[in-house]
Amino acid sequence: MHQILILSGKGGTGKTTVASTFIALSQAKAYADCDVDAPNLHLVMGSFTKEQASDYFGLPKAMIDSDLCTACSRCFAVCRFDAVIPGPTYRIDPIACEGCTYCLHVCPVGAISTKPVKVGELKLYERGEERFSTATLTMGSGTTGKLVSEVKKQLRDNTQETEVAILDGSPGIGCPVIASLAGVDLALMVAEPSVSAFSDLKRVISSARQLQVPVAVVVNKYDMNPTICGEIEVFCFKEGIPFLGKIPYDGQVIAALNKGENPACLNSPASNALKSIYSKTLQVWKEHVRQ
Ligand code: SF4
Ligand code: SF4
Repeated sequence: MHQILILSGKGGTGKTTVASTFIALSQAKAYADCDVDAPNLHLVMGSFTKEQASDYFGLPKAMIDSDLCTACSRCFAVCRFDAVIPGPTYRIDPIACEGCTYCLHVCPVGAISTKPVKVGELKLYERGEERFSTATLTMGSGTTGKLVSEVKKQLRDNTQETEVAILDGSPGIGCPVIASLAGVDLALMVAEPSVSAFSDLKRVISSARQLQVPVAVVVNKYDMNPTICGEIEVFCFKEGIPFLGKIPYDGQVIAALNKGENPACLNSPASNALKSIYSKTLQVWKEHVRQ
């Protein structure tokens, strides 16, 4: 399954706008939202005929049986994550606990056990031949990257052979972005023309290059700061990165997204720019797939 990933160095740059437009224009049979901390692609993809949810478990967490605990404090002494809360009744903070089991081994009375904790939910939506994989992380658990990998695996496992899948990536530059990038054929970076977004863009491009993922760049709301947009274009030219277009600020696209409508349905400045960028992205992707 060939994959085009839409990424941005930070949240709120219009990544989902680009992804949802590409999905509509390509009539993709397979797509995913890898932004498991704040998924929102489903808001513009309409209704589905089938929805399947499955629990996602993170690291096991320690638990203390207060009937057995003698309050000896050995667990408190060894926990490097400050997860043991001492007191008349010893407790464990499930958010701080890393499930290392050190406490379990030092407890003299066997009062500590571990159990897997649900930290998220995977969702698979179906509509005809379309498959849409997404997930929500319900608790900050340090497993965001693993859940992103599960979202992609769920899509692969439930999709027939398809020419291209569109992935809405995770924002930022951390572990979930690395998981989003793994194994894709092209990463289209969506940047805004600001100093901080430009800096984040450079870092996420660096991550993609380390993973040998080809990249291309577009600038969203370019007219908010044409000077920085120009600097991004120059940067791409110098780095040999395809610069595929500039999307103007467009209230019609924002209004459509707020109503849950796909920007691909519009005939507006930003929507038309997105359609042109989609064609260019396909060209760049096909060149890389052919290589
Ligand atoms: S399992 Fe590890 S992190 Fe969790 S409470 Fe025990 S020692 Fe601390
Ligand atoms: S080590 Fe065991 S007995 Fe001691 S405080 Fe912790 S849970 Fe209670």
